[in-house]
Amino acid sequence: MTIPFDNSFVNLPKSFYMHQDPLPVAAPALVKFNHGLAAEIGVSSEDFPVEVLAGNAVPEGAAPLAAAYAGHQFGGFSPQLGDGRAVLLGEVIGPDGTRRDIQLKGAGRTYFSRGGDGRAAIGPVLREYLVSEAMHALGVPTTRALAAVTTGEPVQRETPLSGAVLARVAQSHLRVGSFQFHYARQDKAALEALAEYARARHYPEAEGPLGLLDAVVSAQAKLIAKWMGLGFIHGVMNTDNVAISGETIDYGPCAFMDTYHPETVFSSIDRKGRYAYANQPKIALWNLSQLAQTLVPLVGEVAPLEASLNRFGDIYAAEFTRIFTAKLGLAKPDVDFITDTLKMMANEGVDFTLFFKRLAYGQDIESLFETPTTAQDWHANWQKKHLPNADMKAANPVFIPRSHRIEAALSAAEHGDFTPFEKLHAILARPFEEQPEHAAFENPPTEEERVLATFCGT
Ligand code: AMP
Ligand code: MG
Repeated sequence: MTIPFDNSFVNLPKSFYMHQDPLPVAAPALVKFNHGLAAEIGVSSEDFPVEVLAGNAVPEGAAPLAAAYAGHQFGGFSPQLGDGRAVLLGEVIGPDGTRRDIQLKGAGRTYFSRGGDGRAAIGPVLREYLVSEAMHALGVPTTRALAAVTTGEPVQRETPLSGAVLARVAQSHLRVGSFQFHYARQDKAALEALAEYARARHYPEAEGPLGLLDAVVSAQAKLIAKWMGLGFIHGVMNTDNVAISGETIDYGPCAFMDTYHPETVFSSIDRKGRYAYANQPKIALWNLSQLAQTLVPLVGEVAPLEASLNRFGDIYAAEFTRIFTAKLGLAKPDVDFITDTLKMMANEGVDFTLFFKRLAYGQDIESLFETPTTAQDWHANWQKKHLPNADMKAANPVFIPRSHRIEAALSAAEHGDFTPFEKLHAILARPFEEQPEHAAFENPPTEEERVLATFCGT
């Protein structure tokens, strides 16, 4: 069996990457392989023995490399980040005609590792596996998880943890930070090559660098609106974690909100709440303005780039309204009612996912409220606005990857028990269906189960 690699990134100028083989590990063992995704992208499990997934063997046709990129992290610019613990094995073109990257994350030190060890621990690897696959099942553009393996080697974090490698699939790993890398070096030729490569790969219908920006602005505006509709908080929206493809990338300290509140933050490193739930659209636009900045040398003038960025607000607002109109099953879009509903939910400390789920299934919502009369008044008002045959079940998931369930699965896995991980993964594969035997997984955490902070995957 050979993987049908068709590599293109490696043909870009030399400044874009460093050749880098994955570094072998002591004792690779398979944790999970995603057969469904393999079929979608045109490969099979036989193409990926555990030695390949762990980086102990480089498959025929691969051209392993670590990509260069820069990025604003929490607002501060680093001119050189790059793949410090990931190696792009190569690209494949699926039966759907889509080109995709296959990357090993946690594959050892690279030219870009700086102080890091190039490795990943099992917790963050399985977390990315669970959440990225859940996001896909929830209908959100995202990188995917092809496989997870353990390495048989410890990684030293605050304590020693089991090492692991994630095989990640993405429409590409180009980021806003990829453009910033060449912009910071004032390398116009590289920027031209990158812009044309990204345009042709992701938005072939777009024209020139300006058309590329228009397309990325639109993709990101729609993506963030989807996150908002699910109560998803990315947690580390640095420009190196914003994919040009419009896919969600980098599941570090991300979390789904339980109780609705716009200022919710989980990431332990986000002390000022820069990446809080309600800030996400604003931050996305800030990140896109960094992309626009890198295109100034190509476009030659600022005004058209600004006009492109100015479209973000309307595209985002339209998508947000569309999503919440569907979630509430409204007869017609009603921005004021949506806004008032969210305000009321924050005041009442209502669980975000359970509220919409119960509404969709005609179940009791009153017990989610602090004030029963508020629930009754809201419900009466809602009934007047509601379209009786609206398909609210398709707009409101029953199951989301709640942090307390993820933490329980990861801590069992760290102790060698993968049963909770498998179970959670199976439940989250069908998020829009009630699964009566797993009804407890619909519920928010109890006071003792509550996860207050999430940590970066490093
Ligand atoms: P992230 O916070 O995962 O988006 O990563 C930010 C930057 O840190 C990227 O350049 C990563 O490649 C790098 N990085 C994260 N973890 C490690 C690690 N364990 N070893 C080397 N580089 C790392
Ligand atoms: Mg990153």
